[in-house]
Amino acid sequence: MIGVAVLGSTGSVGESTLDVLARHPQRFRLVAIAAHSNAARLAAQIRAFRPPYAALADAGAVAELRRLLGTEARGTRILAGAEALEELVALAEVQCVMAAIVGAAGLRSTLAAARAGKRLLLANKESLVMAGPLLVAAVNESGATLLPIDSEHNAIFQCLPRGARTGVAPAGLRRILLTASGGPFRDTPCEALASVTPAAACAHPNWVMGRKISVDSATLMNKGLELIEACLLFGVTPAQVEILVHPQSLVHSLVEYVDGSVLAQLGAPDMRTPIAHALAWPERIESGVEFLDLLKAGRLDFRAPDTDKFRCLALAQAAARAGGLHPVLLNAANEVAVQAFLEGQLNFPGIAAVIEAVVQRGTGGAPGGLEEVLAADAEGRVRARERILGMTRNAPMQGVRA
Ligand code: NDP
Repeated sequence: MIGVAVLGSTGSVGESTLDVLARHPQRFRLVAIAAHSNAARLAAQIRAFRPPYAALADAGAVAELRRLLGTEARGTRILAGAEALEELVALAEVQCVMAAIVGAAGLRSTLAAARAGKRLLLANKESLVMAGPLLVAAVNESGATLLPIDSEHNAIFQCLPRGARTGVAPAGLRRILLTASGGPFRDTPCEALASVTPAAACAHPNWVMGRKISVDSATLMNKGLELIEACLLFGVTPAQVEILVHPQSLVHSLVEYVDGSVLAQLGAPDMRTPIAHALAWPERIESGVEFLDLLKAGRLDFRAPDTDKFRCLALAQAAARAGGLHPVLLNAANEVAVQAFLEGQLNFPGIAAVIEAVVQRGTGGAPGGLEEVLAADAEGRVRARERILGMTRNAPMQGVRA
């Protein structure tokens, strides 16, 4: 039995993970689940899975969790606060950690799992974008195994030779072809983007995901973060990663080798495939995912992304090339701008405008330790909020919702 901790269990990836685990009760034991403040959902998961540990990072929500569970809380130790998550991943009963918290909030627990030498199933791409070199070094020093959960990176991993080390490009690899659905506004004219709503941005054509990553997919920032993620995970340069818009989301990514071979991984757009792959690797287990019918799919299209229309992708590509602390500033500004968009304080093109203002004023600097990363993250957030405030004060101005 493999002991599993699922961080971000109440989210989209978290729930898909619990679905796969429930299909294999003889193989996996759910030891711990954790979320931020969704006490109702966590209570339901505790009732269904009876894990020995559960945690809420928002300590203020724990009383509600206890109230909801009543006597059913017996048998589950409930922990409170962000530090509790680091405790959970270090438990001896936990061999495998699903890092599925959204955003920078997942950094410390993801790093803790890497340092503790666990099998780390990495969905929380933001932690890699912020502290990639630290995270990769922690994995290689502790002997942890990092398995990517992002469907694209999981696909690339599946197309690499066995034994490839995290952060080191295998011999003979020429390029990575990273696919993108193009998001809900793929065919929306540029002029119409200023009036798109958060609901429309979250309505992804192929994937069901949390709100933050859905907006990231709509701006193509998600692909930009994934470009940075690919460089760190597979030891390639940004120039070795080509982004291809592939509207069907069936080819999850491809790897090109120097002999002209191109290997791809295909499948239905359902996160349970990469989750099951990473949970069982190097074996294969059933995931509940519908099998791919290529005759029904009919065609596979590919085209170049429009970086004039989707400025966030161009900004992320520049941050990937600049390296250092640029990706940290980019990520921080993006998280703040996306939240402002979701709350109606910023229009869709305003997201890129805020990020651009923050990264332009960025000092960059060399990637340092965790404290430097966290300081740059805090700085990026302050600058982004200042920028949004400036835009609001000067409304009606580009970037502010009418
Ligand atoms: P969701 O928004 O659906 O879920 C986020 C999860 O993180 C929830 O469990 C939430 O808890 C928890 N959380 C949020 N803030 C904190 C915090 N401060 N401390 C502890 N827990 C917190 O996100 P997704 O599942 O869509 O995405 C999760 C990660 O996986 C992201 O990094 C995303 O980029 C990545 N990913 C997602 C994919 C997808 O298909 N959804 C695909 C590939 C990658 P609560 O419910 O209590 O707020």
